[in-house]
Amino acid sequence: MNIEYVKSVIRNVPDFPKPGIQFKDITTALKDPKALSFMIDHLYEYYKDKGITKVAGIESRGFIIGPALAARLGAGFVMIRKPGKLPADTIQKSYALEYGEDTIEMHKDAIGENDVVLVHDDLLATGGTALAALELVQEVGAKSVLVNFLIELAFLDGTARLSSAEDVYAMIKY
Ligand code: AMP
Repeated sequence: MNIEYVKSVIRNVPDFPKPGIQFKDITTALKDPKALSFMIDHLYEYYKDKGITKVAGIESRGFIIGPALAARLGAGFVMIRKPGKLPADTIQKSYALEYGEDTIEMHKDAIGENDVVLVHDDLLATGGTALAALELVQEVGAKSVLVNFLIELAFLDGTARLSSAEDVYAMIKY
C-alpha cells in the first residue's frame, strides 16, 4: 500500500462542475478500505511529532479525513464552515472567486493562543479557500498554523499564497 495506489483510485471526472475543470473525485478512494486507512496512517506519520493540538477542517470535504486524523493525533477537531451554519459567535473571512466571492467562518472560541493548528482540506487549487482559512486561524491568535491537503494541483501554484504557514504538505501532487 502506497501513495501511488491511492492516486490510482482517485477518479478524474472531466468537465465537472463546469466545462474545462477536471474534478478530482476522492469518493472512490474513500470507499476503498485500504486507501482510506492508508491516507489516515500516512498523514498521522507525517504529523505525529509536530505538536498539533487542533485540526481545522474546511467544509465539506475537509470534514472526512480531518476528524479521523485529529483523533489519531490526540488533537481536537474544529469546523470551518460556510456562512450561517455555526450557532455561536463567529469570525468570518471573505475571499475572491473566479466570479464573485465566498465567505467562510469559524467559532471565535474554537482556537486559543496555545494551539498548534493543522488546517486541512481535500484539495488545493488556486489556494483562495485555504488562504482564507489560514488567515482566520492566525487572526484568532493560534501559536502556529500548518496546512494540509490530500491533493495539490501543483500547476496552479496555490502553495505560493500560503507562505505565512509554518508548513504546507500535500500527499498527492498533480
Ligand atoms: P481553491 O480555493 O481554488 O484552492 O479551491 C479549493 C476548493 O475547491 C477545495 O475545497 C476543493 O475541494 C475544491 N476544488 C477546486 N478544484 C477542484 C478540482 N479540480 N477537483 C476537486 N475539487 C476541487
